[in-house]
Amino acid sequence: MSESKHIIIVGAGPGGLCAGMLLSNRGFKVSIYDKNPEVGGRNRAIQLDGFCFDTGPTFLLMKGVLDEMFALCGRRSEDYLEFMPLSPMYDLVYEDKTLSVFSDRENMRSELQRVFDEGTAGYEQFMENERKRFMRLYPCITRDYSTIKSFISLDLLRAVPWLAFPKSIFQNLGRYFNQEKMRLAFCFQSKYLGMSPWDCPALFTMLPYLEHEYGIYHVKGGLNRIAAAMAKVIQEAGGEIHLNQEIQSLVIEQGVVKGVKLQSGEEVFGDEVIVNADFAHAMSRLVPDGLLRKYAPAELDKREYSCSTFMMYLGLNRVYDLPHHSIVFAKDYHTNIGNIFNKKALSEDFSFYVQNAASTDPTLAPAGKSALYVLVPMPNNDSGIDWQAHCQNVREQVLDTLAARLGLSDLRDHIECEKIITPQTWETEENVYKGATFSLAHKFSQMLYWRPHNRFEELDNCYLVGGGTHPGSGLPTIYESARISSNLICKKHGVIYKDIKQSAWLKKTEA
Ligand SMILES: Cc1cc2nc3c(=O)[nH]c(=O)nc-3n(C[C@H](O)[C@H](O)[C@H](O)COP(=O)(O)OP(=O)(O)OC[C@H]3O[C@@H](n4cnc5c(N)ncnc54)[C@H](O)[C@@H]3O)c2cc1C
Repeated sequence: MSESKHIIIVGAGPGGLCAGMLLSNRGFKVSIYDKNPEVGGRNRAIQLDGFCFDTGPTFLLMKGVLDEMFALCGRRSEDYLEFMPLSPMYDLVYEDKTLSVFSDRENMRSELQRVFDEGTAGYEQFMENERKRFMRLYPCITRDYSTIKSFISLDLLRAVPWLAFPKSIFQNLGRYFNQEKMRLAFCFQSKYLGMSPWDCPALFTMLPYLEHEYGIYHVKGGLNRIAAAMAKVIQEAGGEIHLNQEIQSLVIEQGVVKGVKLQSGEEVFGDEVIVNADFAHAMSRLVPDGLLRKYAPAELDKREYSCSTFMMYLGLNRVYDLPHHSIVFAKDYHTNIGNIFNKKALSEDFSFYVQNAASTDPTLAPAGKSALYVLVPMPNNDSGIDWQAHCQNVREQVLDTLAARLGLSDLRDHIECEKIITPQTWETEENVYKGATFSLAHKFSQMLYWRPHNRFEELDNCYLVGGGTHPGSGLPTIYESARISSNLICKKHGVIYKDIKQSAWLKKTEA
């Protein structure tokens, strides 16, 4: 590149930061703009009176992908971050039993034998068969699908028999496990995509497989440290991050994105613009009316979106003896899922997830105290629920349920500080379309070639990264979106970049 090309990135979420890190290390001039005072987006920290919480992501899966992103920048992730593998990974709490879930085989076998009376043959088959599926599917996930030519590939043809279309993840697990509760232990992960296990495509059985094969990590200080580390790498490579700078619109001339217009009215021009802000939010708010067809506001409204979440972050003035991660199933899981996804209504009996990270990472709460993160899956804002009216009731219901299901009966007496995020605040304050925290739903018709392309198909000089584009929501796939978009930009500008053998971290078991 004779003269550095200027890349503008809208949003310093995981996708924007990862793209910024790769491109600044490949010689581009990178300028990132975010409306928030800190980097990280939904992956940023919430600091409350000496307590620290992750806003969103708390499970680091496929750590190898993150390591690769740092390696692509000539760095080692462990020089920036302290990784903590979790064992057990999490506890699953049913009405009548609790299962501790391990990624090491021996512990997992004995725990399955202790809790269920089905034996472990299904688990062995699950690991063996799902490894094959993952090995076939992973190359498809990491490809660019910006053109039909790039879509139809040998990788895809080899993967087709493994798509298990049109089965759901719940149906697929019927091959391995008889009891519904045992199946739930291996398919509740569809919630990571904001989907019901009865609708989520079977190919996502790769999620529980990946947990069991490669484990789950915490990062000391919280997963928000990953965003901070990426920001550091960008700045080391000369990139700029402008915080408290909301983008009002993209500057577009004859279908070509030329730059961005800030809230102040200032315009900044660049050679390429990468959009990391939530896809549907960005296309409906940052692009002038009438310019888009496929993703015009009325079309966006027709798409299917993930569920939302009701979040409580509690700073407590005593220590609670809870595992790092606990997932509690509603007594009637099926009805709860139906309420979230079909009826779009509140449930009295709901599933929830609690993180008590200070139990393994004391940096997150002052000595003698606990920082609890509580996530309750909720319908997205298609529900029409008035959250201002319901917020307080739901808070009380969540505290009652924490007491009833986890024995945390004195919580109310020990709350020192708290913060709540409702589906409504995800939409209005965090710029998440319909408050759908996991973006566009991951159904077949909204995946791969049918998900918004990394090189945006409706505007030139415009690329997408983040959960709303290919490959999808979740930190590792978001980092992959950044890799795909960055590679496309390099190819366009003739920049030769160092590549490392993709997926070198995978256990080499032939499919
Ligand atoms: C509650 C919750 C739990 C999750 N748990 C996990 C988990 O355990 N593991 C996992 O892998 N994934 C998890 N995810 C999913 C996913 O990893 C995160 O949502 C991730 O942060 C999404 O990254 P992103 O790059 O798409 O963008 P975001 O994090 O949404 O960042 C987008 C950025 O764009 C900025 N922006 C928006 N509009 C503008 C504008 N007009 N001008 C300037 N800036 C703008 C925003 O301020 C934000 O910083 C979770 C998500 C949520 C919400």
